[in-house]
Amino acid sequence: MRLSRFFLPILKETPKEAEIVSHRLMLRAGMIRQEAAGIYAWLPLGLRVLKKIEAIVREEQNRAGAIELLMPTLQLADLWRESGRYDAYGPEMLRIQDRHKRELLFGPTNEEMITEIFRGYIRSYKSLPLNLYHIQWKFRDEQRPRFGVMRGREFLMKDAYSFDIDEAGARRSYNRMFVAYLRTFARMGLKAIPMRAETGPIGGDLSHEFIVLAETGESGVYIDKDVLDLPVPDMDVDYDGDLTPIVKQWTTAYAATEDVHDGSRYEHEVPEERRVHTRGIEVGQIFYFGTKYSDSMKALVAGPDGIEQPIHGGSYGVGVSRLVGAIIEACHDETGIKWPDAVAPFAVAILNLKQGASDTDAACERLYRELSARGVDVLYDDTDQRAGAKFATADLIGIPWQVMVGPKGLAEGKVEIKRRSDGAREHVALEDAIARLM
Ligand code: ATP
Ligand code: MG
Ligand code: MG
Ligand code: MG
Repeated sequence: MRLSRFFLPILKETPKEAEIVSHRLMLRAGMIRQEAAGIYAWLPLGLRVLKKIEAIVREEQNRAGAIELLMPTLQLADLWRESGRYDAYGPEMLRIQDRHKRELLFGPTNEEMITEIFRGYIRSYKSLPLNLYHIQWKFRDEQRPRFGVMRGREFLMKDAYSFDIDEAGARRSYNRMFVAYLRTFARMGLKAIPMRAETGPIGGDLSHEFIVLAETGESGVYIDKDVLDLPVPDMDVDYDGDLTPIVKQWTTAYAATEDVHDGSRYEHEVPEERRVHTRGIEVGQIFYFGTKYSDSMKALVAGPDGIEQPIHGGSYGVGVSRLVGAIIEACHDETGIKWPDAVAPFAVAILNLKQGASDTDAACERLYRELSARGVDVLYDDTDQRAGAKFATADLIGIPWQVMVGPKGLAEGKVEIKRRSDGAREHVALEDAIARLM
């Protein structure tokens, strides 16, 4: 992409309304634009990151055996009356009427709808286990939307729903999602700690929140700092095998949100030097809720004995759009964002330090052409801004690798490569730059 033809509305001033660094940086870097409280347009740079995060979430869900579908954003109120949640959900639910005075709502979550789909087709335990997910916009009329996309009203969520014949099966499904979440967040460069959590309005008896530690987070957390060094399962983890040892390893050391914190247990189990009391951002949550929805909505299947019984369910959410903010909270410095490679909007930025000079233009064009041909996502700053402004833009938008092409270096056949994560710089020959950045 040539920056001269891209749409990257960088803000010079720091927006006053933004209280936390990720919100400030997203506005300054031209990633989002607020259209109403908690409702954002995703500008091209922001959308690229959102799509990268979405793709990682999807890959790891698929790897764990979940099947993607897509449910609508609008749902019938009657469906929620079946489960009893239409009245119970309260003012966070956006209720809508169509021209025929039919009551609808903008989905804040999809347990009812997926249960309705399930019961429409599945009759026998032989079709189980089944895990269906989608990545869809949700609406929750949050009392206090704030921190940009971290607490929006409209936000993108991945939500998966598992169906099993009994509790033992449901726990296996739960463990698959638990492991998939460990992998998902680690791939984005995040340390997300699974913590015992309250089950809230979704209900049930087993739940973990995945929380990224950050001072600006909204949840208070208590952990044993040993959990920070546990190994994340690698790509060939066997999702059909027994995952309980992994789950056990990750749930043995103390880690709890303040809602379920048990002070005496904490003091008893965790030696003082390992206690960490801090704040964190909830980026995902998983629940086992048993037969809560299958009882009320009559999602029954025949067991091996031929007798119909309610299925055991779980639901598993990831805050896809919240993650964009959470990653910035974890990866930035005073000059801007430092995207981890896996979610970066572009892999490489080429900065032409003397636009219009034939040697720098030619070298940049060659770099741009050859890297693009090899499938590298390149942003070529071919604008006529001065060098200082180009440096500032590249640092602000956080592209992991910058290639600086100036007349001085080129006289010796060299360009400068800078790694955004630690600022390390190196002068290399033009050819070597291409090989290095592929
Ligand atoms: P919170 O405690 O932050 O209000 P929640 O517990 O209500 O979140 P869940 O129902 O568990 O949210 O939804 C799954 C995930 O969706 C959350 O873990 C979070 O990452 C994301 N999420 C929830 N609410 C919002 C929101 N208002 N804006 C952005 N992401 C959200
Ligand atoms: Mg909430
Ligand atoms: Mg929560
Ligand atoms: Mg939650």
